[in-house]
Amino acid sequence: MITRRSVTKVILGAPLVASLPLCTIGRALAEPTKAPAAAATRIADVPIFIYHHTKPGSTPQSLTGQAMMVTPETFERHLQYLQAHRYQTIRFTDLAAFLLDGSKVLPERSAIISFDDGWEDQFLYAFPLLQKYQFSATFFIVSGYVDHENFITSEQLRLLLAANMEIGSHTRSHPTLTSLSAQRQWDEIATSKAILEERLGVTIDSFAYPYGSYNAEVAALTQRAGYRAARTIRAGCNHTAADLPTLACEVFAGFVGRDSLALAAREARS
Ligand SMILES: [Zn+2]
Repeated sequence: MITRRSVTKVILGAPLVASLPLCTIGRALAEPTKAPAAAATRIADVPIFIYHHTKPGSTPQSLTGQAMMVTPETFERHLQYLQAHRYQTIRFTDLAAFLLDGSKVLPERSAIISFDDGWEDQFLYAFPLLQKYQFSATFFIVSGYVDHENFITSEQLRLLLAANMEIGSHTRSHPTLTSLSAQRQWDEIATSKAILEERLGVTIDSFAYPYGSYNAEVAALTQRAGYRAARTIRAGCNHTAADLPTLACEVFAGFVGRDSLALAAREARS
């Protein structure tokens, strides 16, 4: 089973929710939908899963390796787990709309599935399974990698969009943003957005920091560039409006740790 921990959260000086389950892999919200609270006190408990490679092969032994690669069979078990536990996938924009002004009501059990880097194996192996189980996902694309060997093509991106998947930006060249000049940071963050929007004809609302590397300046640039949400790799899944530029994720889906979805999926079968 998924470990449940309790925290006491205080936001803007107001006690919010005592003993709020942290990352329950369960309820999406800590707040009734009948009486929307102010944005400052709205909170969503939504696990955000991260995948990199999804392809056939043997499961890596190391935790780092498992964070970077899952087999299609493992990925399908994750989706079966979500389905069995009545999860519905949402987009980052749904989460933002809920947190900012309550204009979007989230399903009782919400989750976000995200893929980083734009590897072609995500399209070849994960995408068909997402469709099979009627889940959506967000694909964070490095604009400079599109149409290169082993990476998703422009045509595949259009097919993902046509199937109601979300495309987000993961910069132009996957640098460690905090090591760059402000000008280069802006180019990676804003120009990648413009390139993807021009190529695909949609608005790119979401961003993921390569290597999870960010600071206050970098996070501010994602807001200035017009992203509604940006995802880090720091742990946590109780999200507030203030978190939107630096959203946490609790689970690396390939991990075989105590809090992993992979473990939950195994236990669900046993
Ligand atoms: Zn990456």
